[in-house]
Amino acid sequence: MTVETARFATRAVHAARSRETASSRATPIYLTAGFEFDDFDHAADHFSTGAGFGYTRTGNPTVRAVERQLAALESGADAVLVASGQAAVVTALLAVVGAGDHIVSSTHIYEGTRGLFLDNLARLDIATTFVEDIADPDAWRAAIRPNTRAVFAESLANARNDVLDIRAISDIADEFAIPLIVDNTLATPALLRPLEHGAAIVVHSASKFLAGHGSVLGGVIVDDGRFDAEHAGHNAPHLVLPGRGGAPSVFARHGGRARIGYARESVAPRFGASPSPLNAFLIGQGVETLGLRVERQSRNALQIAQWLEQHESVESVDYVGLPSHPDHAIGQRYLDGGSGSIFTFTLRGGLPAARRFVEGVQVFTHMTHIGDVRSLVLHPGTTSHAQRTEDEREILGVRPGTLRVSIGIEDVDDLIADLSQVLNAVRETVA
Ligand SMILES: *Cc1c(COP(=O)(O)O)cnc(C)c1O
Repeated sequence: MTVETARFATRAVHAARSRETASSRATPIYLTAGFEFDDFDHAADHFSTGAGFGYTRTGNPTVRAVERQLAALESGADAVLVASGQAAVVTALLAVVGAGDHIVSSTHIYEGTRGLFLDNLARLDIATTFVEDIADPDAWRAAIRPNTRAVFAESLANARNDVLDIRAISDIADEFAIPLIVDNTLATPALLRPLEHGAAIVVHSASKFLAGHGSVLGGVIVDDGRFDAEHAGHNAPHLVLPGRGGAPSVFARHGGRARIGYARESVAPRFGASPSPLNAFLIGQGVETLGLRVERQSRNALQIAQWLEQHESVESVDYVGLPSHPDHAIGQRYLDGGSGSIFTFTLRGGLPAARRFVEGVQVFTHMTHIGDVRSLVLHPGTTSHAQRTEDEREILGVRPGTLRVSIGIEDVDDLIADLSQVLNAVRETVA
């Protein structure tokens, strides 16, 4: 029987089937749960070696294309794309830590990541020590224990725009044969590539700048491909010891790419945060214009930060692109081509002024997101940082009058006009 001679319901399901290939210039969207095997041996071979594509949770050509793109932009050896930034952080950590292990992390990190350490990983018997003064190498060294298996930090942190001295901290991590994992979401590879400064693994929320359009969630893990079994094997038995049933170790099969190989084979598909191929495509489309967007966003942000710093209603501006910022010099050293576009500033007039501000903006959008082509504003004290104590918020630079902005690609004069009208209105109501 052929499809042509089959009955209606069968024709409906099978008539479109095709094994044609075409050289699509844009990345084709393989929106499919799985892939047809050529023959018996092909299926068996796929299951034994993992080569090729069988089922989208373990691999998909659209997803793979975006992984190549992001590995190339981060100067990495390979990448794994997952469904969100949060999934990227979990996947990277679970590729290197297990029960009974310990993590050392900067305290200047995304609140979702902090919650993961404090609530979820703690319940899996993975403890975390937080480093407050991330500029002090001795504070990092002192936090490392015999069972520490990962060092975690953000290259450019929210809310205070702290810049990590990646070289100094990766040197310390390396002394102890531990990977430094850097969340590079805010800096983006357009401005900073942590693997070039000694980090072992980079993670991103691709929902932010990488996509840029704010229409999908995604995350990525990029590895430097330099896992050294001789130097670090004692800290990674899951990579160097034989697998279940005496199978060759991950290191035997993937060499220097053992960590990312393990993340791809054993962490991402098992915990199951697989990206939709359609979302992967949309991230890939965004990434093509990343450099242009970040250049424009950084330029806009600098101009706006300078303008705000002069404004009488503004108490302070925490933007690393300003010479007044404590990390300006280290920022100049690490950030190439701009200082990013996410920063905080603090209004005179505290909470009432902040409330009036977020409710009065017209071009800016009041929402919890960053890295969008649109300019966004949020009041961290009552949202992203509401879980922190007041003392912690003070240390993190989040006060009642503090607002976080993520500057978009709009015409900067329109953005400044919007800020100007809202600051005038704030002054009238709060004064
Ligand atoms: C948003 C964000 C995350 C989490 O990413 P999702 O895509 O929202 O899951 C992690 N780290 C940083 C720095 C972020 O800004």
